[in-house]
Parts: sequence; C-alpha cells; structure tokens
Amino acid sequence: MALFSRASRTGPAPLDGVDVVLADLDGVVYAGAGALPHAVQSLNRAGESRRLGYITNNASRTDASVAGHLSDLGLNVAPEDVITSPQAAMRLLTERIPTGATVLVVGGEGLVVETEKAGFHVTRSAEDDPAAVVQGFAPHVSWTDLAQAAYALATPEEEGGIPWIATNTDWTIPTAGGIAPGNGTLVSAVHTAIGRLATVAGKPETPIFDEAVARFGADSPLFIGDRLDTDILGAARAGMRSAHVLTGVDRPKHVLAAPAESRPTFLLSDLRELHEPYPETRVGRDGAVSVGEASVRVDGPDVTILAEGTRQIDLLRAGAAAIWATGRGIFGFRVPELLYADPFHRP
Ligand SMILES: [Mg+2]
Repeated sequence: MALFSRASRTGPAPLDGVDVVLADLDGVVYAGAGALPHAVQSLNRAGESRRLGYITNNASRTDASVAGHLSDLGLNVAPEDVITSPQAAMRLLTERIPTGATVLVVGGEGLVVETEKAGFHVTRSAEDDPAAVVQGFAPHVSWTDLAQAAYALATPEEEGGIPWIATNTDWTIPTAGGIAPGNGTLVSAVHTAIGRLATVAGKPETPIFDEAVARFGADSPLFIGDRLDTDILGAARAGMRSAHVLTGVDRPKHVLAAPAESRPTFLLSDLRELHEPYPETRVGRDGAVSVGEASVRVDGPDVTILAEGTRQIDLLRAGAAAIWATGRGIFGFRVPELLYADPFHRP
C-alpha cells in the first residue's frame, strides 16, 4: 500500500497565506449570548500570527459595545478591530456630502455615535433640511422616523434629491422571541412610500469589506461567515476568499443549492478546521468527485454517493463540488438525503 494514498491528499490549511482574518459574528463567533464551540480558541490561535477583524451588519450596537461582548467571551478585541455597518455607511456619506452637514438619522445609538464621530450633525426631522438620510435598525425605530425619512427623500436623486444610505438590508433579525423584521423590511417601507432605492453599506454590498481592507491594510484576507447570501456573496463581490462555517444560519442543503456567486472557497464544520490541512477536491476519469474518503458522482438528474467516507464534512464538500461543477440548479437533481445530513452544530 502506498504510504500516501490518493484518499489522504490534502492542500494547505484555509489560514495558510492569510494576513487578515475577517469574521462575521452571529453564527460564527457566538449564538445568542454564548460563544459557539471551538470558536474563541480557534480565533485566538489564528490571531497569534495575523490580524483579526470582526464585521457586523448590526447597526444598533457601537464598535466598543461589540468589542466588549467579544472580550467577555474570551477574545482579545479592541473597538478598532470591529467594523460595523454604520462605519461603512459613513464611508459612503463622506464621499457624498461635506463634513459638518446635517444628516437625518433613522436608527439607534450605534448609528448616531458613528454619524457624530464622522463629523456630521444629527437630526431626526426632515424640517432641518438634511443633506442625507442614513437608516439602520434599532428596536425603537417608529412610523414617525420612517415618515421623516420619506419626507426628506421625496425628491428623486436624479432631480437633485439627497442621498439615502442604508446600513444594511437584512430582511430579518434573530431575537430572543424568534425571527423579527430587520432593517431591510424597514428600508423597504420607505422605498414603498417614495419609490427610491437606498445605497447599501453592509454585506452583501462591498463598502463594509472595503472599509475592512483599508483599515487593516489587508493583502490576502479570508472572510468567515455563516450566511451564503450576505457573507459569502459579499466576500466574493469584494474579491475575498471565504470560509462558510456550519454553525449558523445556512445548513448543508443550502450549501448544495448555493448559486454560483455565493459559493465559499472553504466549507468548515467548525473553526478548528481553519488550522487543518484542507482536503483537495479530485475529479476522476469517470467524473466522480472525491474529497478525503468520500466520493460523489452526478449522472444526469441523479447524484450518487459512491463512497460515504468517514467525515460528513468531506461528503458534503464532494457533493457540493460535484453539483456546482454541473452549472445546473439544484432543483433538477435527485439528491440522496445522506448528502445533506446535518450533524453539525446548530445555534
Ligand atoms: Mg452571521
């Protein structure tokens, strides 16, 4: 038997060659109040030899408050290591309106603090003749706030109307009581009233990634996320490699179904695998796609498991690679349930 069998072939670890690690928070570092298994230890280890940054679309908390939460979980985090969507929104605002201008803020403390820090004057009323509207989520945002935004944005931008920046457009947010409407839902309410579209700063748009690259001087960053349609899509748009970790929102079946622009560079069970050699994807002459000891082949509409292997993550990696390579949508396939089995940690 060969000392190194084909089945054991691996490439570099996801962290090899990475100078800055950028991580999403919810579903990657923590779920609810507590840290996810292995997340803190793996990130601290990653931070021994490279810069770590944290990226959040959440507009209601300040960078200092996020850093405090992460420090309580056992990470070494300073406020400047945290990039919030309000900070990315300020990047867009400073390109469009002069410092010292008045900005109508729809949102909470996280957004107000950043708006003032960026040198703008904050108002809550359209009557103050604001130079722009910036909108982010806070639990206390009311119809009155949305109405003020609509009044201020009544003139279309091409007719001389003022800019409208949304921190993010997440449709939902997880709360202790369940799924609740997110900023996207509230931005959409204003859009419905005025017929204008907001410019978006947060994931999956690129300003928040651009802010991170600029702040950390990243040459070869890796972004870690748990949502394909925001984290992974945004990283791809920003030209970054990405790792999707199966401890959050998007599960194996979502991975198999991911559209081309939302496919991660790496698939991870948990963050320990950031440090482990990543198995190569091999394509056999018969079209079989193998990862580790798992092997999958697509025959017309059928996805067939040729070898289950010993690690569910490798079977998922092989299945995803086989399905993605066809260029066809997931709905055209008969997929065995074992391929999207989900023994991974759920928040
Ligand atoms: Mg997340």
